[in-house]
Amino acid sequence: MSPQATSGLPPGRSYAVLTMDVEDWYHLDYFARDRCDPAHSLLDGLETYRGILTAQGLESSFFVLGELADRLATVLRELAEAGHDVGSHGWDHRRPLTMSPAQLGEDLRRSKRELEDTIQRPVLGYRAPCFSLDRARLEEVRAAGHAYDSSRIDFGAHPLYGTLDMQGFEPVQDGVFRQGAFVEFEVSTLKLFGKRVPVSGGGYLRLIPWPLMRGLIGRYLALHRLYVLYIHPFELSLGAVPPLPSGTGRLTRYRFSAGRAKVGDRLQRLIALLRHRGFEFTTFARLRAGLAATAAEIIQGT
Ligand SMILES: [Zn+2]
Repeated sequence: MSPQATSGLPPGRSYAVLTMDVEDWYHLDYFARDRCDPAHSLLDGLETYRGILTAQGLESSFFVLGELADRLATVLRELAEAGHDVGSHGWDHRRPLTMSPAQLGEDLRRSKRELEDTIQRPVLGYRAPCFSLDRARLEEVRAAGHAYDSSRIDFGAHPLYGTLDMQGFEPVQDGVFRQGAFVEFEVSTLKLFGKRVPVSGGGYLRLIPWPLMRGLIGRYLALHRLYVLYIHPFELSLGAVPPLPSGTGRLTRYRFSAGRAKVGDRLQRLIALLRHRGFEFTTFARLRAGLAATAAEIIQGT
């Protein structure tokens, strides 16, 4: 029997992967980094998130900037020891599509090495800053030694996001693609009236009224078996809004700062909704290991 025919996630089971892109507020692409004061940090949101995960007994996939590894060394080691999946978000949040594939290769290796030295474990996953990745650069992710990527999002309206063509990959199921042992996990969007609606970002949890968001996510969960959330420390930070660079527009200020006080509560409501709908919480590393085991069993005929 061909492995393509039957490999995939176990039938009848649905999974939720909560993910955090570990970066500070001044890494966001809508602020000019050289005009931000990094002495103001909102990384405390990582602790808020960890508190929610611990209270709920959940594991998460983290994508961490290499340049923060030293500063966050203790917490990253604790996360890895507690079973969380610690992956890379590149070195300093430069968007891959602004780099040549060779420059990206260097960025990927530097970040992976730094994180591995910190946690003393292999760093399997990668997510591109701003989902900025194309197929040539995805090959760099694989060549750097990563076992999975989660940079694909089908949301063409965003000017910074790349488009990741999955040609040559086996679609394991919606949102999961595999080529050999390498797996791509897509970030969730809902197709509604011919448009893609984001149902996966912390920003939408903050800015869209919960009854509407619950309806959209509920609709997504009825149609799909993998739900992926991505959130950032600044969204869960209890710290005051830092002094933003002069010239930051009102819309950007609003997009950055609105709804932060609510997002912890929204996240817990989302977790309750996912549980109620029968979704099991896991990490990308565990899902990938399960897929690899399934394929090996089929290949060996066991
Ligand atoms: Zn990011």
